[in-house]
Amino acid sequence: MPNYKIAIVGAGPAGYFTAQALQKLQTNDLTFVIDMIERLPTPWGLVRSGVAPDHQKIKTVSKVFEKIAKESGFRLFANVELGKDISLKDLRDQYDAVVLATGAAVGRKLGIPGEDLKNVLSAADFVSWYNAHPDFANVEVDLNTDTAVVIGAGNVAMDVARILAIDPSELDATDVAEHALTKLKQSRIRQVIICGRRAPEHAAFTAPELRDLPKLENTDVYIDADQIKQAASRIEQLGEIEKDLKNNLEAMRLIAMYDKKGVVRRLRIKFLAAPKEIKGNGKVEEVIFTINKVKDSKVIATDKVFSIKTGLIITAIGYDAVEYPGIKITNGRIANIAGHVENNVYVTGWAKRGPTGVIGTNKSDSADVVDLIIKNLKEPKKSEGIRVLLKPGHQVIDQTGWEKINASEVISGELVGKPRIKEVDRKRLLNK
Ligand code: NAP
Repeated sequence: MPNYKIAIVGAGPAGYFTAQALQKLQTNDLTFVIDMIERLPTPWGLVRSGVAPDHQKIKTVSKVFEKIAKESGFRLFANVELGKDISLKDLRDQYDAVVLATGAAVGRKLGIPGEDLKNVLSAADFVSWYNAHPDFANVEVDLNTDTAVVIGAGNVAMDVARILAIDPSELDATDVAEHALTKLKQSRIRQVIICGRRAPEHAAFTAPELRDLPKLENTDVYIDADQIKQAASRIEQLGEIEKDLKNNLEAMRLIAMYDKKGVVRRLRIKFLAAPKEIKGNGKVEEVIFTINKVKDSKVIATDKVFSIKTGLIITAIGYDAVEYPGIKITNGRIANIAGHVENNVYVTGWAKRGPTGVIGTNKSDSADVVDLIIKNLKEPKKSEGIRVLLKPGHQVIDQTGWEKINASEVISGELVGKPRIKEVDRKRLLNK
């Protein structure tokens, strides 16, 4: 009975859905040993360290991950880093197939003057900071300013803006990092401005996220009604309108129209504002934007500029895949053809297609890659797998170890009315 060894690198949604797709295709004649390798001591990837803490419902997908992990043949090897503790070549030699589900964790750069000033942060760092990612617990975040600017018009920009704009007490009953909650409670920020470089019809927000904005309890959300009207009229002239776009514009129209509560916390969404320069003396003080316009369906720069005085800028303009020795990155992704990297190495999720789509998008993506793997499988390798690759004494967190961490976090949370209190310290995570 062929029993194939598959290594999945990265314990985020794409990794788990790959494992699930393999499990679904198992038969009496085709079985898999699935080793999931994760560089952190904890699994769940962006579900743990990306999804916004005020979106707890999205995190319930972790129940699916735990079910996948309980299936026989599945093993977790957390606290094992590709390129450091284990090489791609070794994995390739030991396993019948290696699937890289390593995501896209590097925040893209704006490439404008002043980007390196203090308190200009990438969402990659800021989101990981408020979500208790052990590597980002010490990111310096200064919230001692009345206005924060978020650059980008996608859902990550919206997550970040919401976290900065809501009353922090709304995060009390969430799993936000304790260090972030303390800082947010001292925050002087009362206005957050999201700036998109193109027009409302080009925004990457999705309608459900937009529809939630007027429901914020302690924050008023503003959007320019004229800009939305002009966008609607432009797309009407183009003929048939895509449903998602129609929903987005309608959600934006409702934001412009709804009755504001008159509270001090404000979130503004501005369009056609392209960042040009960030100014400040050591630390950010101001950001200059070029005003763009739409002409013949194209977004072009005008010669007009405007500026916003701000002490904090978060850039949420997309991510690139992390580079590992032996892996080529092209256009921010691991170079691949339909998920095939080379020999018996495959890629899935954001590392494969770039940082697009919601958690569920990884399901079909991973199922396609698994079909390809199965098509290419040869005779099962006679090898020993990961154990022979790790240095003696290397501390692995296996599924039982993770379940202990998980239970301890949940119990500490329950005592204070939170879903969990995340441990941010690597050493303590390893000693749980
Ligand atoms: P995204 O959706 O691709 O949005 C990136 C934004 O950055 C776009 O508005 C883009 O504008 C802008 N941008 C790129 N380069 C720029 C530059 N140099 N200057 C100014 N603006 C620039 O990426 P994301 O927000 O990181 O989200 C990644 C994926 O995760 C998306 O699929 C998103 O829907 C998903 N996500 C979903 C949720 C949720 O469901 N609640 C939450 C978070 C993330 P252009 O369009 O002009 O390039």
